[in-house]
Amino acid sequence: MDCISCGLPSGYNRVVIDGETEAEIGGLCIECEEHQMGERLRWDIRAKTEPEGCALCARDAHVRAPEWDPEMETSADGTAVWVEYQVTETTPGLCEEHFEGLVAPDTVAEPTPGTPRRSE
Ligand SMILES: [Zn+2]
Ligand SMILES: [Zn+2]
Repeated sequence: MDCISCGLPSGYNRVVIDGETEAEIGGLCIECEEHQMGERLRWDIRAKTEPEGCALCARDAHVRAPEWDPEMETSADGTAVWVEYQVTETTPGLCEEHFEGLVAPDTVAEPTPGTPRRSE
């Protein structure tokens, strides 16, 4: 799964899922989380202000970003299944605005089409 912010493999840091459908949108690598969020997604830091909703402001969560935490679980019929992440009330959310800010990188690594380039 690739990071929604830098496009590189997210390295199993966090999964970004739709807040309502829980469909997987992408991953979030540790570098992007640290650069853009610092420690603000950490539950113990933000818990005092916003237990639900966006971890960075007071708005409703548009997506949620559970930590990638694979665990072997045994279902009722005895089959072992891998649960890759769990969404709980401590899972940080992001509002639409903060999510879009994360997706759109503020540095463009490649020249955009139409940028004049001198060939050498
Ligand atoms: Zn990244
Ligand atoms: Zn927000």
